[in-house]
Amino acid sequence: MGNVTDGVFFIPGQDEFIPDSHTYLVGEPPSQDLSLIDPGLMGKGEYKIKAIQEMGIELEVIKRVIMTHTHLDHIGCLAEILQHIPWAELWVHTLEAVPLEQGDERTVYGMEMFRGMCQTQYGLKPGAFTFQVHRHLQGGDNLEIGGIGWEVIHVPGHSMGGIALYHRPQQILIPGDVVYADYAIGRFDLHGADASELKQSLLRLGELDVDILLPGHNRIVKGLPAGYIRDTAEQWGPYLR
Ligand SMILES: [Zn+2]
Ligand SMILES: [Zn+2]
Repeated sequence: MGNVTDGVFFIPGQDEFIPDSHTYLVGEPPSQDLSLIDPGLMGKGEYKIKAIQEMGIELEVIKRVIMTHTHLDHIGCLAEILQHIPWAELWVHTLEAVPLEQGDERTVYGMEMFRGMCQTQYGLKPGAFTFQVHRHLQGGDNLEIGGIGWEVIHVPGHSMGGIALYHRPQQILIPGDVVYADYAIGRFDLHGADASELKQSLLRLGELDVDILLPGHNRIVKGLPAGYIRDTAEQWGPYLR
């Protein structure tokens, strides 16, 4: 937990029997324009908010929530978080923003069996994950937020509207669940997933120079070896078609 580098804060997920995504806060605090990336699993909102306050960050400066994608382990506590920052906008790639606005929860739950299980376990009502999205993101968007520039890269394959955020000057990549440390990649069997698209997305990210990898789960990496993502794509290539 804490400051990864200037303007990037890390709040680790607290996995239960379902994983809880990591949360990142990006932006220089003096800008008073911070963005929260991926709230996390149901029930983790209080913990994440407390962790942010313990880092000395005022909630007032958090102006938006950006989703790398809208799976349950990333969006589960969005409503809890928004209770603390009700002014915050929600920014999501358009391919997952539209279902989110329409109350189509297939991407959130990923599979039917999982929907029933989670609704029972967490007391979630149908339509619990219906949200107004203030900005529909697209690949190629350049976000200048909080004194830091982020390129939006559309990386479908793990989910339809998955995005990676890339800060080129410091070579920081926030890839959501597309690629993790230790040559792991996101699953590609859920609603809207596609193995060959995931391969293309990995190859696309493999073209970037990345020093700091901030994935949705597991450990974060500083000083990522050159070619790491390309090697990961190659290792998984035979399984991704
Ligand atoms: Zn995840
Ligand atoms: Zn995911």
